[in-house]
Amino acid sequence: MTNAHYEKMRSIVDRKEYWAERIAVDLRNYLDEKQILSANDYQISEEALEKIVTHFKGSLVELTDTDDTRKSYIKKTGQDTFEIHYRDRSDYMTAFHELGHAFLDLDEMNDGEEIACDGLRLSDRAAWLFARTLAMPRDGFETLAVEKNYNIRDIADVYRLNYYPVLLRGKDLNIWK
Ligand SMILES: [Zn+2]
Repeated sequence: MTNAHYEKMRSIVDRKEYWAERIAVDLRNYLDEKQILSANDYQISEEALEKIVTHFKGSLVELTDTDDTRKSYIKKTGQDTFEIHYRDRSDYMTAFHELGHAFLDLDEMNDGEEIACDGLRLSDRAAWLFARTLAMPRDGFETLAVEKNYNIRDIADVYRLNYYPVLLRGKDLNIWK
């Protein structure tokens, strides 16, 4: 890859991430206004997740096919409708990641097209940033970080999330290096 080509790719990634973060912050405020999800909720219930996704004309589909090795994917099913396929109903981070693709990538997709999340796509980084921003809003995260003495595992327990997304969220917010 030439330098110029790399720079161009880099700027596309940066732009997607910029919008991913802005959209997620706005979305969380919007959900609070609509009383779908309070800004102070640390955990996302299955019920809240369902409400959020259906509010934006999406639907949640449990992925049960064991021959299908994908962990999750999003499928465009119409002009502005989509399905989020994922395996574990309590895994709201993965569902939020796919919702991120709905906000960031649906316009560029054709009907019936799927985005499989193999982590190799440019938009995957942006979709994960979207998911972290939506799940762990800044104010609540900062408050909790102090309360839990910056212990990542203790913070993760409150969100009912794994260690890694919480580690990255702290980095997003410059709370730790
Ligand atoms: Zn993805």
